[in-house]
Amino acid sequence: RNGYHGSTVAGASLGGMTWMHEQGDLPIAGIHHIGQPFWYAEGGDLSPEEFGLKAARELEEKIDELGEENVAAFVAEPIQGAGGVIVPPSTYWPEIARICKARNILLIADEVICGFGRTGHWFGHQYFGVEPDLAPIAKGLSSGYLPIGGVLVSDRVGDVLVEEVGDFNHGFTYSGHPVCAAAALENLRIIEEERLVERVHDDIGPHLAAGLKALEEHPMVGQVQCVGLMAAVQLAEDKASRKRFDDKEKAGVTVRNHCLDNGLVLRATGDRMLFSPPLVISRDEVDTMIDVTRRGLDHAWKVMRG
Ligand SMILES: *Cc1c(COP(=O)(O)O)cnc(C)c1O
Repeated sequence: RNGYHGSTVAGASLGGMTWMHEQGDLPIAGIHHIGQPFWYAEGGDLSPEEFGLKAARELEEKIDELGEENVAAFVAEPIQGAGGVIVPPSTYWPEIARICKARNILLIADEVICGFGRTGHWFGHQYFGVEPDLAPIAKGLSSGYLPIGGVLVSDRVGDVLVEEVGDFNHGFTYSGHPVCAAAALENLRIIEEERLVERVHDDIGPHLAAGLKALEEHPMVGQVQCVGLMAAVQLAEDKASRKRFDDKEKAGVTVRNHCLDNGLVLRATGDRMLFSPPLVISRDEVDTMIDVTRRGLDHAWKVMRG
């Protein structure tokens, strides 16, 4: 639930966004959903680590319900992006990987947002120390300069396709488009040459995290989550009890609009403020970004408390 895997009939079905399902008579048959590892909203009295295990074990329960022989694969984003940059507790992914392995079910890590340095690693699953069998990629593959996507396939799956299936009977008009592939290759070359993944991991990521963490002192901020250059500021009406505003949209939009008016493009997903700056952002720009955000929070805190 609340995962995002794209807008095609299959992609939207795999995703867990009910408002997308409702507009398209989805999900299509054969796709089932489990809850999201969103501790702040759904963790209750459990510690994040306890809740991470509980959320992962929903997968086990669902597999039992459906019958192990009927489940081909489990797909999720290492960190839910569109859903609100929801960083799962540290216990979540290792438990998911354990369950998939024990049941011989393929693990698919949707790396469309997390891939290519965003988390300070080449791929989001590396941050969590798990190894998927398949990994969809796009966005950062070309840094968005030209449209290109793909799926990384492990040998375990690839060997079956080559040796037992032979031809893969699917293709798109623009599959393997050489211009987009050239742009992606050049983008990857620059990421390597400028050591941008290392920069995110060792330098600019920690700088962003430290700056954003300081916002946890703000009365309107319940929690800050930051991995590499991917971050969320969770708004709260009462920090101590993790109480959120009744009108989450208004809280988020009020912060966002103030930031926009002051030159910062910040995304509000409900009451979570999302950051995903370019991997080449400077330290000064990060500081400005956090300063504008702080002023947006000051403004919204006044507005929301009438
Ligand atoms: C953007 C996104 C997609 C969709 O990719 P398209 O190229 O638009 O199909 C899939 N998964 C995740 C995690 C995304 O963020």
